[in-house]
Parts: sequence; C-alpha cells; structure tokens
Amino acid sequence: MSDKMLHPELHDPDAKRPARDGEPLDHAEAASKPLRSRMPEAQPRGAKIRGNRPIDQAEAAKRFIAAPEHQKMHDERLWDLRKKRDREMHGMPEWEDLRSFASQIKEHTLAHLDHYLEMFEHNATANGIKVHWAKDAAEHNDIVLGIMREKKATRLIKSKSMLTEECGFREFMTGQGIDVVETDLGERIQQLDDEAPSHVVVPAVHKMRSDVAQVFAKTIGSDPDNDDANYLAERQRAHTRPLILDAQVGMTGANFVVAETGGFVVCTNEGNADLSANIPPVHIASIGIEKLVPRMEHLAVFVRLLSRSALGAPITQYTSHFRGPRAGAEMHVVLVDNGRTERLGMEKFWTSLKCIRCGACMNTCPVFRRSGGLSYGATYAGPIGLIIDPTFNARKYSTLPFSSTLNGSCTNVCPVKINIHEQIASWRQVLAETHEIPFMKKAMMAAAGKILAHPALYRAAIAAADSALKNLPRFAVYNRLNTWGRGREVPAPPPESFHSWYKRNRIDRKQPGGKP
Ligand code: SF4
Repeated sequence: MSDKMLHPELHDPDAKRPARDGEPLDHAEAASKPLRSRMPEAQPRGAKIRGNRPIDQAEAAKRFIAAPEHQKMHDERLWDLRKKRDREMHGMPEWEDLRSFASQIKEHTLAHLDHYLEMFEHNATANGIKVHWAKDAAEHNDIVLGIMREKKATRLIKSKSMLTEECGFREFMTGQGIDVVETDLGERIQQLDDEAPSHVVVPAVHKMRSDVAQVFAKTIGSDPDNDDANYLAERQRAHTRPLILDAQVGMTGANFVVAETGGFVVCTNEGNADLSANIPPVHIASIGIEKLVPRMEHLAVFVRLLSRSALGAPITQYTSHFRGPRAGAEMHVVLVDNGRTERLGMEKFWTSLKCIRCGACMNTCPVFRRSGGLSYGATYAGPIGLIIDPTFNARKYSTLPFSSTLNGSCTNVCPVKINIHEQIASWRQVLAETHEIPFMKKAMMAAAGKILAHPALYRAAIAAADSALKNLPRFAVYNRLNTWGRGREVPAPPPESFHSWYKRNRIDRKQPGGKP
C-alpha cells in the first residue's frame, strides 16, 4: 500500500494527533501507546465446540481469567461503557418513561406481529423492494445465494449483522465460492482472525491492540511491531476499500423496521452500512421478524435509547433510513424467522424478542466482563445470550443459564425492560425439568432445596460446612464437583454465623431476663 493513503500524522510519529478543543480525541479503544518491548500476552481463545455437547463456559472463562492483561482490559473497557451509559441516563429525566414506551411498543408489535409483517410487506413492495420470507437459517442463505447467482456475483460486502452470524452465513457463502467481506472494523478483525464476534456491538472488544497487530501482520501484511490504533485502522482501510469498491452485492442488517412506511433503519458509527447499501448495484437487507415497529414516530423512542444504552453516546454517527432502491439499483429484504415464532409462543421467554441488541446487559454483567464473550460458545453471549441460546439448542446451551449471579443488573439497564435475570432463573427450572442438566448438578440442587426448606437442617449443615472448610484437606474442597471453586477461593468461614449472632444480640434482649 502506498504511504500516500495514510493520514499525514502517520508519516510522522511526532505530528499532532487529531484533537478537539485542544484535547486528543477520546475513543472507546483509548489513546494509542507504542507496543511494549516484552512479549505480549497471548490472546485467550473461546469455548471449545464439540458438536452438540454442552458448552463448558466455566472452562473457557478460566482460560480468559488466566490472561490477566486481557481480562483487566476487557473488564475496564466494558465498565467504561456502562459508566458512560449511566451518565447519559442521568442527563435525561424522561429515561424511565422512554424505557416503558419502548417496552410497550415492542410488546404490542409482537402481540400483533402477523398484522405488522403483512403491513410492512405491502408497503415495502409498493416502494419497489423485493420482499422474501425465510423460515430458517438454511432458507435465508439459499435466498441470498439465489440472488447472487442470478446476478453472477462473486463478491458480497456486508455490514455487521448478528442475524447472519446466527445463520452461519459467511461460512456457507465461502463454501459456495462467494467472497464475503466484512466492512465493520471490529467484525473485519474477527473475520481475518477466523473468530466469531464476542459482543453484539463491539465484536473485537476482547482483543488488545497487540492482538490486532498480529492478526493484520499475518493477513494483510502490516508491521507486526506497530500496534498504533490509527496505523492499524488505516492499513485495514487501505486493504479493504478496493474490495468494497469492486463488490457486486452489498448486505446490511437492520436495527428497526417501520411497518407503516415499508422502510428500515441501520445505525452504525463507521458509515460502513452506507457503503454496503450504496456502492454495489444490489442491496440485500437480512432482517429478523422481531425488528418491527408500527409507525415512524416510534423510531424516536428507540433511536434515543439505543446508542445511549450501547456506548453511552447520545446517537450513533450514522442513522441511515432506507425505503426503496436507488435509481437503476435493486433492493431485497429477507425477513427471517429462524425460531422466533416458536419463541413467541414460549410463555416465560417470549419477551426476549423485545431485545434491540444494544449490549448494555453484557457491559454490566460481572460474569461477561471477566470471562469474555467467546467463552459462551454461542452467537449471543452474556445475559441476553443466556435466555436466547437455549431456544436454539437446549442441550448444547444447557449450561449457559448457570453462568450468572442473578444480580439483576442486566434487567436494570435493559432499555426495553426485559426481565432478563428472571428468565435466566426460569431457564434453570425448565432445563432441570427436561433433564438437560448433569445428574450430579441436579442431585446437588435437590439436596440444597431440601436443606434450604428446613431451617434446623440448614443451620446444622452450615455448622458442618464451616467445620469442614476449616479442617478438610484442600483436595477435598477443590475438586471436579466444586465448579464454583474453579478460579476462585471459597471464603474463610466467619467465627460466628449471623443466626447465632442475631440470637445472642437481638432475640435474647427482647426476652424477659435477656441480656441488656
Ligand atoms: S437484552 Fe436488553 S440490554 Fe441486553 S442487548 Fe437486548 S436490549 Fe440490550
């Protein structure tokens, strides 16, 4: 690549960095620092996938925690997003009203989904959009392949879309000889590293700049010793831009779909969806059927909530509205079910369809921040993943609802008021009832249930456990049965239980003749 394509400050390391009001620009990736001279810490990889066998999230989390630089960086980056989200929330007195409106609009739309889907199809067709229906991932992939074949197209550029991840779209198209090029920077990093996105909004958030430098050095020939964020972004841009300009088909997802106009909205911070939609002569939008809102005015509620919840920013850099094909171009919309209708019929779990994929529940979750999104071994990680993934495959994702402390923080930050932690608890119940959890875990939960239901038994068990923790050899406490003890220490028992303290200091005082 010619150095002429680099921004001027990249030629000269002493040149002034981009700034606003005299301050270097703040970015989620933080200010760039030179690569350290010592060996960078190796990037921990995600959960091991073994066909349909249950994902061992705890094992992958243990490896993530064992990489302290990555774990600290990941935790701090996501907590920073959570703090920025809180700042935005406190700046809007009507925040709770917006959340209530958003929840009500989504619940109303989902309750009348057939009506609004038909309304959208009617209006979109009238706008000149070709509307397709896909009942599952395979049908979605076949429809897009059919359009590609009809156009004799061999390259497709796409902006980030979790739905296409859900459909295994890139692997399928690559197998058909179609070159798929991701245009979102984080997603492109993940594509070049042959990894799935680890977060719905920031796909490569688990990677340090040194990891990206290594990936780019291997795949696009950048300098492996230069992990300057501006340099890496420029190199990738220069490498991918010619591929974008040359593509015959562009693909986007959609954040919101408006039934009354037959249009849809894509929110990005890089403008890459606009490249995918506007450069090639064919634009295909792959859209989950739950993305609908009835009217244009409802968009205002969601656009105000989305970016604030996701990144703590008042709005995304680009909020692009599409309503029909450009002159001389084609626009297709593929409406995808892929299990959504079935989920809509699940009494305890249907409201998970309200999700607008903002990622706020991930950013606040202590388990997600410390274990990384790839440890979940599923398209959707974090709290929302725990309640969606088992609907795709209850056996494979049977362990995930247990990767939560049930602290409820996810529910508190969710902009569409999904009762996430309650649904996680419900999944535990459902999985136990359908025998999708290991016998040992089930037996231990049954024993715990009996103990917790009988106060005298509970107090005797606590006394026995305290004594065991003090006296048993380490291997008797930390073994395969104690998954809780993987990567952390069981706290030392206190000298006295709360019950005995309470009895001595409160109950006795109230009794006649009790201590003063
Ligand atoms: S469940 Fe709520 S907080 Fe989590 S990604 Fe979806 S909308 Fe955002």
